[in-house]
Amino acid sequence: MSSANALLERLDCFVVVEPNFVWTELHFLFSFQNAGDKENMLNILNVLDELLSAGTDRRIHHMISKGGSEALLTALVNSARSFTPNYTILLPLLHLLAKVGYRDRQIGLKAQKADAVLVVLGLLRQNTENSRRAAACLWVLRVFCSSVTTANLLGKNRGLDVVFKLISPHSTKHLRTVKAAVDAFAAMLRSKVNCRTAVAKGYIADLLKLYEDWHNNDVNLKNIPIRRALLHCLQCAANSAVGRDALVTEGGISLLFQTTQTCLTMKGLESLVEPAIQLMRKCNPKVPLPLTSDKSVFSFPLPGQPVDDWDADLGLYDDSLEDDSDEDAENEEPDNRDYEDDLETDVNKLRPQPEPDRTLEQLGQYVRLCPELHHDFQDLDSSSEVDESSDDDSTLEGDLNDETQSDQRGSDLPSDRDEHHLHTSDFHKHYLNCSRRGQKGHSSMVDRLLEKYGICIPNHDPRLYAATAANTKSIAGYSILAFPDFWGHLPPQEQEPMAKRPQHVQRKKVFEDIQRLICPEDIINKVIFDMDDHSPQCTPDMCPSSLHFFSKFESGNLRKAIQIRSHEYDLILNADVNSSAFCQWFYFEVSGMVAGVPYRFNIINCEKGNSQYNYGMQPVLYSVRDALEGRPHWVRTGSEISLHIYSHILHSAFSFYTLTFTVMFHHDDDVCYLAYHYPYTYTTLQTHLKMLEKSVDPQKVFFRQQNLCDTLAGNSCSLVTITACPTSRAWKHLHQLRNRPCVVLTARVHPGESNASWVLKGTLEFLCSSDPVAESLREAYIFKIIPMLNPDGVINGNNRCSLTAEDLNRQWLMPDPNLSPTIYHTKGFLYYLNSIGRTPLVFCDYHGHSRKKNVFLYGCSMKETLWQSGSPINTASLKEDPGYRTLAKTLDRIAPAFSFNNCNYLVEKSRASTARVVVWREIGVLRSYTMESTYNGCNQGIYKGLQTGTRELEEMGMKFSQSLLTLRRNAIHYNSRLIHHASALLDLDDRLLDHKSNNFFEDDEPPCMEEIEYSSCSDPFGANELDTEVNGNTSSEEEDEEDADICRDGKQRNNRKSHLVPHYLKQDALETLTIKSGQCNGSNGYLY
Ligand SMILES: [Zn+2]
Repeated sequence: MSSANALLERLDCFVVVEPNFVWTELHFLFSFQNAGDKENMLNILNVLDELLSAGTDRRIHHMISKGGSEALLTALVNSARSFTPNYTILLPLLHLLAKVGYRDRQIGLKAQKADAVLVVLGLLRQNTENSRRAAACLWVLRVFCSSVTTANLLGKNRGLDVVFKLISPHSTKHLRTVKAAVDAFAAMLRSKVNCRTAVAKGYIADLLKLYEDWHNNDVNLKNIPIRRALLHCLQCAANSAVGRDALVTEGGISLLFQTTQTCLTMKGLESLVEPAIQLMRKCNPKVPLPLTSDKSVFSFPLPGQPVDDWDADLGLYDDSLEDDSDEDAENEEPDNRDYEDDLETDVNKLRPQPEPDRTLEQLGQYVRLCPELHHDFQDLDSSSEVDESSDDDSTLEGDLNDETQSDQRGSDLPSDRDEHHLHTSDFHKHYLNCSRRGQKGHSSMVDRLLEKYGICIPNHDPRLYAATAANTKSIAGYSILAFPDFWGHLPPQEQEPMAKRPQHVQRKKVFEDIQRLICPEDIINKVIFDMDDHSPQCTPDMCPSSLHFFSKFESGNLRKAIQIRSHEYDLILNADVNSSAFCQWFYFEVSGMVAGVPYRFNIINCEKGNSQYNYGMQPVLYSVRDALEGRPHWVRTGSEISLHIYSHILHSAFSFYTLTFTVMFHHDDDVCYLAYHYPYTYTTLQTHLKMLEKSVDPQKVFFRQQNLCDTLAGNSCSLVTITACPTSRAWKHLHQLRNRPCVVLTARVHPGESNASWVLKGTLEFLCSSDPVAESLREAYIFKIIPMLNPDGVINGNNRCSLTAEDLNRQWLMPDPNLSPTIYHTKGFLYYLNSIGRTPLVFCDYHGHSRKKNVFLYGCSMKETLWQSGSPINTASLKEDPGYRTLAKTLDRIAPAFSFNNCNYLVEKSRASTARVVVWREIGVLRSYTMESTYNGCNQGIYKGLQTGTRELEEMGMKFSQSLLTLRRNAIHYNSRLIHHASALLDLDDRLLDHKSNNFFEDDEPPCMEEIEYSSCSDPFGANELDTEVNGNTSSEEEDEEDADICRDGKQRNNRKSHLVPHYLKQDALETLTIKSGQCNGSNGYLY
């Protein structure tokens, strides 16, 4: 004892002064200890246990780093191999090893190296009848299995059988050992080989029976840890395909379903519900999307490229991908990668370099796009009414006249009854078929509708819409108009709050999904609508008890609708043209409903997770009945909204998300439209531009719509010029006009971002208005606006791309004139402005953001980017005009939806080919922005907690225009009116607010309230749980045959306290330690 005490004394002091020495010393002792020197050994273990239990995990990690695990393993092997293993030493050693090993990631490999794996398995074999020893061995084996090769080694040596035998049916005895066995078994199932063995030996079926047994007999809820461990074990098995199959064939899903339903009715069983749900989701057999091909229904032959072999690749479901490891990984959002790495640090790439990518001659073609510079403004003097109509449209009047003179055929009109019972077919056959303009009946229908319901939506005219639609070229040759686009929309009076998310929505939905599998008799599974199938679809007569779907209209993109249950439908979106991806936007018509019934819709092939749908955003709904009754509103709708990874749809490349929501319609047999966001079609834009042009006073407002270029599908990409006409033709006035700086605005490069169009609508309307600030703006600037950079995408219901299946906002570096004409010519036009010395003062590209709230700007700053990226370049020596921040600061004050704190001026490598970065760097526009508008709503300002409507989006567009005035306050000295407006409007002081940019890639939302854990098999228990169990093993109230005489201490202990060594042996050591720690240091025993 004395030598041990001496050692302890030394050790204890060294803990403080020379911790490294302690471990060296211990290692030495363990390695060369005499197996017979029991007393020394116990004392050492005792010291270790005390040391490791007292502090934080850092001590254990320090010990591990100093070879502590190896020392323990060596000691264990030496002790166990002696002729008569001494369990007084082995037991504490095993306990310590479990605690330390749990925190040592390499423990499995170290154990193999020390030959400890099979030694412990041998000990377990010898002690299956001794529950305490068995438990100690099981913990160590479990810890060893952190390495799959160790797990394999155990499997090869029939470890599964040994361990499984220790998992008993429900019992009141040896609970700790049973749990240790379940945990060890689960750990061994980390190896796929072991999984296969376990399945082959029927262990999965047995585990299910065991789970059921413990579930049924655990009346007093005393065995929740074991039940949870059994679930975890099943989860580990479910990580392999063979395990999942076994679980399904053995009836695992219905067992879990039923047991979980019981758990939900009892308090205190919450911890069993979540793992059971995960397990059910995981095992729900995967099937491909119910499509023959996931490629878009639409293909479009691209110039200079061979026609895609459309049938070649039907590979929705690739067997080779049924790999064990492909499970449930959440879609890798590109935005989640390490943001700092993405920041541009090459100063040359950050420095604006206006060098055209084409010759001056090539730029000559854009002269025509600056008519205001060459216009002679003769009408200012003559007051003649020279037609200044746009380049490309003079047939409009004729069209409308045709319509109004076509004959009135009362027989085509719906009867009075029909006017109150709208049928989808009425619209399609009569009202809204734009291709039937020439035929009798059509225009009269429109007229009658308008006569009867006469609506007045500002800057909208249904007849003009119908006429304009005839010129819109879609791939499918759409001839039918969606009613909301035709009829128009007014924002509802009331602002709409964000939806409350009820508790456990996802859970409820998963249960419903699981029921599809276990109650197949309830499943209808009937295709109601299919874009691929041209045979007559489910008409109201054929399917009287189904909803009816339709989306063969501009921006519509429903591909298939399948009735699942009487009031539940799976919906599949069409992929972007020429692609098999990018689904998120949706727009379709639904009819045949019964009022007040909750219908569940599942859009099962969404590609983005973490959208605002989990944070209060709702889809939008338009009711034709409501519209005809004087409420032509898109309104937010839907309850029980959830966007989650769908359990059973398999995709070759990623997980699909399902957007699920429930809608209760207000009227029977209404015709309604549902959309991702307020639709804004290409035809809407063209109609709007015509209305605007007619609305302005040509004597005062120079408004010109021109064709920038044709799109691939032959639609016109419009460029609008707005500025004030000069007061007179006097040189001074013309000179002032021609020297106004340019502001270039673009929008809707991403077709799914219809919010961008509504914001731009606000901008356009304001700029054309008679508001004095608008007048000032027109006098201050020449506005060049390209309202829709991607008409083809918008028309054909794409979400992200153009017809080339590429993101047009990634084409700006080298836009191809044939494949990306709108980008090629927008860039060319900007070069042209640059070449004539009229580099825009501001460029802004309007977008929508699906994962953030508020409206905000992304800009470009070299200094901020270098600074944020941690670049060694001294940014102090670099010059940069801080003016890029002015607009955001102004907007923060005047635009309620705008949030300065969401703005960001960093230049990312991955964004090098976007409009914002290219216009900044190549065209040299200091104020080059992307303006992002939320689809959802705001979390600040007066709109906090509200979803944005079109009113707020349009207001944002107006405020953006107004903010531009601040940039000209000091420039125009001779226009006092303008200065007055600017100051009155903005009431600004010039102090630069020193806000720091935010990293816009950081997650803007906290994890969803009930986020389902998608990761495959994390250890749900943690070190503390194991510690507690191990500690309990030395002071168990359970019977213990051999050590029954040892003093028992039945009190519940804190798991930090040391318990490894029997109490009577501890006394000396404890006393020594207490004294020593007082002597050595007096305060605390820091190891570092
Ligand atoms: Zn966008």
